Amino acid sequence: MTASPLKPVQIIGGGIAGLSLGLALRRAGVSVTLIEAGDYPRHRVCGEFITGLDTGTIDRLGLAPILADAQHHREVSWFLRDRLLRRQMLPDPALALSRHVLDQRLANAFVSAGGELRTHTRADLEQTPDGRVFATGRRPARSDWIGLKCHAYGLALKSELEFHLGDNAYVGLCVVEEDRVNVSGLFRQRPGFGLTRETALLTYLRASGLADLAHRLSEVEIDPASFSAVAGLGFSKPTARADRLVIGDTFAMIPPFTGNGMAMAFQSAECALDPLLAWSRGEADWLVTLRKVNDRLRRRFRRRLASAKTLHPFLFNPQGQRWLAVVNRAGLLPMRALYNVLH
Ligand SMILES: Cc1cc2nc3c(=O)[nH]c(=O)nc-3n(C[C@H](O)[C@H](O)[C@H](O)COP(=O)(O)OP(=O)(O)OC[C@H]3O[C@@H](n4cnc5c(N)ncnc54)[C@H](O)[C@@H]3O)c2cc1C
Repeated sequence: MTASPLKPVQIIGGGIAGLSLGLALRRAGVSVTLIEAGDYPRHRVCGEFITGLDTGTIDRLGLAPILADAQHHREVSWFLRDRLLRRQMLPDPALALSRHVLDQRLANAFVSAGGELRTHTRADLEQTPDGRVFATGRRPARSDWIGLKCHAYGLALKSELEFHLGDNAYVGLCVVEEDRVNVSGLFRQRPGFGLTRETALLTYLRASGLADLAHRLSEVEIDPASFSAVAGLGFSKPTARADRLVIGDTFAMIPPFTGNGMAMAFQSAECALDPLLAWSRGEADWLVTLRKVNDRLRRRFRRRLASAKTLHPFLFNPQGQRWLAVVNRAGLLPMRALYNVLH
């Protein structure tokens, strides 16, 4: 008896979720075509540190060589409007690597494993044939949050990770490669600012009460190609649609302060892997596969998404930050417990 051939999978979107799923499927012998609107390498708005990525997921997706030289950061300093609020040690190190390097490495590994990668190709998202996975990143939302980022050379940090809370803003800094520091923030959009990609970050830092940080940044050289911006960011409820298989931010975007979005993207690829392999081998039909992946995603991420959504306003708006500062001064912030519910 000859085994029937494996059914091919098509993935739309070559970010963390799509590329890591494509790589794992290829290594299991499945034909994979991945359609990506952009190209590599590319800068993306992202804090570029990964927290809560477990070794189980790293092993299952074969990520160890890709993350081997990532920086390990454990020490975090929290600042409220340029004043040190608290230092803490993370229970596990955060892995830091620029998206410029990480996405390119994943794309190279996918192609080396025999995957077909079509860049500069935008897929029609209305078509939902069996075997198609949507990993197209965040769903555009009506929101007034914007994300801004750049890479600064030789910026001296006050700890491995700096986290700054400002007026309707938070910003994270960490070393990503050699002397390259990623500076990335989420800001409530301010109407009437005439900005360019190059001036937006400094202008927003100053307007958010983060003048010291803006000053430190204005003193060092910035990689001009790294200035990036993204608008229309929404942190909505998970959408597991009955008619399509979604992973990564397309399933749900967790607020960036958690540093867990990339871990979730990898973990959602892991959640989809076995059901897709069963479908590819002809052991399950497509609707059963969709339902199984959706159940896995909901179970794995429900608690952390709900916790992050509850905490987000406390970090972001001035009233919440004042409350946070008072609770912190009283020594009542349960950092370890918060970390556990967010990862
Ligand atoms: C300000 C900010 C800071 C963040 N900081 C961190 C952090 O420190 N740590 C962390 O872990 N996470 C962070 N995140 C979140 C993290 O960036 C995302 O969770 C992660 O990128 C999700 O990966 P993904 O593969 O789902 O989507 P993406 O990485 O967005 O990839 C989606 C891909 O789909 C492609 N695409 C879209 N539409 C189409 C189409 N029609 N056809 C073809 N291709 C298409 C896009 O070009 C893109 O390459 C941050 C996010 C923001 C906004």
